[in-house]
Amino acid sequence: MENTDARVLLQHIYNTYGYQISKNFKDNAIQDAFELADKALEKQIPKKPIFDYNLSDTLSKFHCECGNTIKVNHDVGIMDDNDAPNYCSNCGQKLDWSEESEENNEID
Ligand SMILES: [Zn+2]
Repeated sequence: MENTDARVLLQHIYNTYGYQISKNFKDNAIQDAFELADKALEKQIPKKPIFDYNLSDTLSKFHCECGNTIKVNHDVGIMDDNDAPNYCSNCGQKLDWSEESEENNEID
């Protein structure tokens, strides 16, 4: 199941049963739990790290949406994902290192 589908399903369960279940718990416990679950699912949807600049030919600096700095070692000229973390070490956001386009169609 895609995480986006899971979020839609979660929202549906909350809308349908949330009020009913919440009567068995105090205050906003159910609402809080659903919001927490939704945030956790959202972090599983990969987001592209934001590129800052190249520190050298083989080291680039990125940052996560949360502001956490991510430095990645790579081969000269290409951004492979050998050393790129799958998740932000600060906020747990899943990271998408795929290239924007699969082919660089450079014109000679
Ligand atoms: Zn982060």
